[in-house]
Amino acid sequence: MAEQRLSQCSDSASIDARVLMEHVTGYSHADIIRKNDQALSESQQSLFDELVAMRETGAPIAYITGQREFWSMNFLVTPDTLIPRPETEILVEQALLRIPKDAEVTIADLGTGSGAIALAIAYERPHARVIATDASRLALETARVNEERLGIGNVELRLGRWFGALGQDRCDVVVSNPPYVREDDPHLSQGDVRYEPMTALVSGDDGLDAIREIITDASNHLKPGGWLLLEHGFDQGEAVLGLMQSAGFVNVETVGDLAGQDRVTLGQWVAS
Ligand code: GLN
Repeated sequence: MAEQRLSQCSDSASIDARVLMEHVTGYSHADIIRKNDQALSESQQSLFDELVAMRETGAPIAYITGQREFWSMNFLVTPDTLIPRPETEILVEQALLRIPKDAEVTIADLGTGSGAIALAIAYERPHARVIATDASRLALETARVNEERLGIGNVELRLGRWFGALGQDRCDVVVSNPPYVREDDPHLSQGDVRYEPMTALVSGDDGLDAIREIITDASNHLKPGGWLLLEHGFDQGEAVLGLMQSAGFVNVETVGDLAGQDRVTLGQWVAS
């Protein structure tokens, strides 16, 4: 019965139903297959019905269950933070290619949200110092919970807008998944994004306001030879590449995601 109702609100209704069932029972996917004739307790059944009803109104699975996997790590996500996307793992991968394994480098993640990018990098590079900034106190609180739950000790959380929270610190690598959606993008009224924080999604008429601001200020916060890596929309690669080249970055390139869409543009700051 639940499946039938779920199918009215999702293309992947049976997956949604299974994830909610796992959440309610605490069982893994394999457990559910193994124990498929076991009945739910009364309280499990009523919780399941409640969560299905939330999903029917359109609430994202990640906010209902309060979690989302990113970089094979489990993150708390709340409506104060964007839901981590698989394509953002490209940003982490590209950053790691530029961070030597044992070096004591300084990395910044601007607009960290749940902390997913910063914590994934910090986990992979335990000798690095990772500064994660966000203008939202509530988002930083979510990132703090994730830092504690994951037991990662080399991240510093700082409240502030983009580079504003960095002070005098200069970085070897700066990463950001800033808001980059256009104000009038019709996707904003569809699916999960309706529930996500607007300030984490939208950035002016062309979606590039935050990216422009970050690129302009980057020269004051990167060490010579340091890298800036920015996630952006599939149709913004050329524009971001142009902005970075005009600002004086070298070795600028755009990297596609697994779907072959432009996703990350990066460049190196060589001037002092
Ligand atoms: N990738 C998100 C989307 O397309 C946008 C995230 C962002 O603006 N940083 O919905």
